[in-house]
Amino acid sequence: MRAIRLQRTGAPLAEESVPAPAPGPQDVLVRVRAAGICHSDAHYRAGVAPARLPCTPGHEVAGVVEACGAGVSAFRPGDRVCLNYLVTCGECEWCRAGHEQFCVAAEMIGKDRDGGFAEYVGVPARGVLPLPDAVPFEHGAVLMCSSATALHALNKARVVAGDTVAVFGVGGLGVSAIQLARLRGAREVFAVDVHPRKLALAKSLGATPVDAKAADPVAEIRRLTAGRGVNAALELIGLPETMRQCVESLAVQGRAALAGLTDRPFSVSPYRNLLGREAEVIGVSDHLDAELRELIGLAARGELDLSPVVTRTVPLEAAAINSALDELERFGAEVRSVIRA
Ligand SMILES: [Zn+2]
Ligand SMILES: [Zn+2]
Repeated sequence: MRAIRLQRTGAPLAEESVPAPAPGPQDVLVRVRAAGICHSDAHYRAGVAPARLPCTPGHEVAGVVEACGAGVSAFRPGDRVCLNYLVTCGECEWCRAGHEQFCVAAEMIGKDRDGGFAEYVGVPARGVLPLPDAVPFEHGAVLMCSSATALHALNKARVVAGDTVAVFGVGGLGVSAIQLARLRGAREVFAVDVHPRKLALAKSLGATPVDAKAADPVAEIRRLTAGRGVNAALELIGLPETMRQCVESLAVQGRAALAGLTDRPFSVSPYRNLLGREAEVIGVSDHLDAELRELIGLAARGELDLSPVVTRTVPLEAAAINSALDELERFGAEVRSVIRA
């Protein structure tokens, strides 16, 4: 089969011909129909985050079941599915406690094992989720990462009806975060970005746009909340600057959930920003299986609209994928490119 693979960090992805995976007894072989190109993939290519090499990236995958192992009864060939990128054991202490993102044996598809930038991907059946006909493959793919992280961030920030919420970054995660916060009954959602197109998109989704190029977003959020700040703030970009702003935007007892990936430090005033407000800074890692199922339901009922997220589809070709990754590295205005087969 054709696969677009990463051989070594710092080099572009390249097309290779590799054997299609042979499904084991508990595995499902999926014909990939859509695979999202994510900022994480740019990190693996650059070596910012380590992937097991060589590797076929692609952790946002939807497709059709091609074949099932002898022990698989939940699926049959032809089923529409999407894939939980976390392959977990289901048996360790973390899996049993319902925190399977910390599974001691966890592997991520497209990073620790081959993913969806290929014609086929093989995965254990327990990580395969049914995808209703109402949800297009490309939407199913982005549900598995950007929407999943957005929902997990909202849950970690304990957003409830009536809360004010600030979303830093109107990319693939932010578009879902705005809609999910509003579905949850957030009183007002402030969307911080610098791209006019993304700010307009945020406004069309019911958020109050905050242009970080035009004014200090912290001062602007304080002004718009009569000085109180927000109950929850989500950092979905991965920049020290926006992490600091996220924390500084909080109200008394506010929660900042950080989901953007960076190794660089940020600083806040412990007294003014944290102690004096009893504010919380919370890390966000991956998602839960239950959150993926909830998202698929929301998308199938039309409550979560992913059409603004998938702004471009590209073919399964190395040049197109590399240029989409280049664009993500430049924080381009493109929200999300999805490989469509
Ligand atoms: Zn992703
Ligand atoms: Zn486990």
